[in-house]
Amino acid sequence: MALTICPWKYNKTWVYSITYDEALADLHQFAIPIHEEYGIPGHVEVVVGQLGETRNLGNSSYNGYRHMNADELKDLLARGWGIGNHSWSHELIQPDMVDLEIGRAKDVLEAAIDAPVDLYCAPGNNSNMSDHVLKACRKYGYLGAMSLTDALNRPNTPLFWINRTALHEQYYAPFFSEYDPFRNIRHAQAQNGWIIDYCHCPLEKPIHPNKDCSHPQLRKRFETILTEDKVWCAVPEEVLFYHQTRRHTQIETISDTETQKRYRLHLNNLSDRVTCRTLTLHADVPAPWCRYPNVWIDGQPHPAHLVEPRKLQITVTVTDGMELVFQDSNAIS
Ligand SMILES: [Zn+2]
Repeated sequence: MALTICPWKYNKTWVYSITYDEALADLHQFAIPIHEEYGIPGHVEVVVGQLGETRNLGNSSYNGYRHMNADELKDLLARGWGIGNHSWSHELIQPDMVDLEIGRAKDVLEAAIDAPVDLYCAPGNNSNMSDHVLKACRKYGYLGAMSLTDALNRPNTPLFWINRTALHEQYYAPFFSEYDPFRNIRHAQAQNGWIIDYCHCPLEKPIHPNKDCSHPQLRKRFETILTEDKVWCAVPEEVLFYHQTRRHTQIETISDTETQKRYRLHLNNLSDRVTCRTLTLHADVPAPWCRYPNVWIDGQPHPAHLVEPRKLQITVTVTDGMELVFQDSNAIS
């Protein structure tokens, strides 16, 4: 196939996202300013039953801290962040609780922030990634579910078990560890991986070393991410949209001659919830076509970019039936 879809948008080698469980208002103290400084978007996971309230959950380390309210969450959306459902109660979700924890929580959160909620994020531990929970996530129209497994996600990772890297000062006993700002990066670069960091609310010192990092450690992580090459920093939803669009797009070759390559895209069973349908594509073309690199999209010329000899790159919002034509611009003009 001379037209291929890149694993990630902009043909980046790896992807970086970061999530903050509990969506605490104190994120404004350190985390949000660091995000603003570096231009990396974040993502908060909301305990919907305590929206805007002071946390009061069992023996949580974060009791006494306040959860963000709807206006604060909308402010994050305006800054380019994303918002997920971290359940209604943060309890172990039993089968008879899914309508409240997965269904109603989603409805209430969407009404509060006036935006879709496409991601579920398991509270507590992976017991909340049980079969009945994930079945409910599919039923209620989520696009993915985030776990607490420290691993990479890959271009073909199942979206109803998304892994997250604990960005914590130290791991639980008996695996005591040192904070590592490079955690999983080399692995992601080698395997087209998608890292999603997970922490809570970085302050001067972590509230609990097994649950968080400090704000200097968060800054160090961002500096490390951005000194590495070819990374796409994005909210998880944008990555999910790309992942879904890529997997549901089929490329049909209409013609492949010495003067023209014509392709038609078919979007098969792509969810309506995928509201951003942008793909980055590579086309192998003869060298003379690269002098004035263009692509004709449904008959209209658009600039393409030469990324290596005889390889053009475009990033385009795709539609079902869209035609892409590559040819020698110089010969046409
Ligand atoms: Zn939590």
